[in-house]
Amino acid sequence: MPRESIYKRYKPSNSPHPIKNSPAYWFIFKLNELLIDTNNKPLNIPFTNNLDELNISPIRTQYIGTLDRHYCYSAEVIPKTRAPEGMVFKTLRQSYDDLDEDIYLLAGRALQIVNWDSNHQFCGKCGTPTETEEDEMAKVCPECGFSSHTRLSPAVITAIIKDGKLLMAKHNHAPGKRYGLIAGFVEAGETLEEAVLRETVEEVGLHVKNIKYFGSQPWPYPNSLMIAFTAEYDSGEIMVDGKEISHARWFSPHELPNIPSSISIAGELIEWYKNKYKTNIP
Ligand SMILES: [Zn+2]
Repeated sequence: MPRESIYKRYKPSNSPHPIKNSPAYWFIFKLNELLIDTNNKPLNIPFTNNLDELNISPIRTQYIGTLDRHYCYSAEVIPKTRAPEGMVFKTLRQSYDDLDEDIYLLAGRALQIVNWDSNHQFCGKCGTPTETEEDEMAKVCPECGFSSHTRLSPAVITAIIKDGKLLMAKHNHAPGKRYGLIAGFVEAGETLEEAVLRETVEEVGLHVKNIKYFGSQPWPYPNSLMIAFTAEYDSGEIMVDGKEISHARWFSPHELPNIPSSISIAGELIEWYKNKYKTNIP
């Protein structure tokens, strides 16, 4: 089942308490790399009153709320910034083993806020410098009023089952050309279910039915939200386009190929499939 929410420990906010003389968690990004502080066990991110103590001068910082009642900030530093003694910059994907899962997810949120802040310094419509709203995460143009919220690109991913077997497809652009589930971005005007239907037809030429919501996961690479479904095969023969997808077939639980780790919702879907169908292997 999908994991517990981080919002039990984390309270989002973008207006800091005016008195901030206590140490805070810092999510510091150099491009897409997070500063990991292995001296600060067990969370492994810097915990300090201010960045001067780390000899770091950020370009911008953003208050992002509290974790276990401690303030949290995200910050962006210039590319030539060196990691302080005992610390290291790593991409989020590389950081998974270093971080508590809640911290990992919060770092994903922080990275998206850093990128949004960086990319919306000017109005996308008229070019005027924007102002950050105090009570919501939005940038507003003082000239024309155009506002920009954090951008999310929703994508659907589906575990499709036929006679107890799971459909997996080899994506040409995936690292190592691994097998994965059917997935793709939601297009303007579509419901999530329509996106599932369309992607399945486009990628493998099949029609599905009984589409059921499974769970969702923020996927900050760079700003997606994965919405996962299960579905049953309805009709059609597997036909791949040869460009995006090179091959697709049905797998039974004991013959699944190299699969994504369970940190991703793809991995959770496949775990769900294995547990549900392991006892009736065809
Ligand atoms: Zn404007």
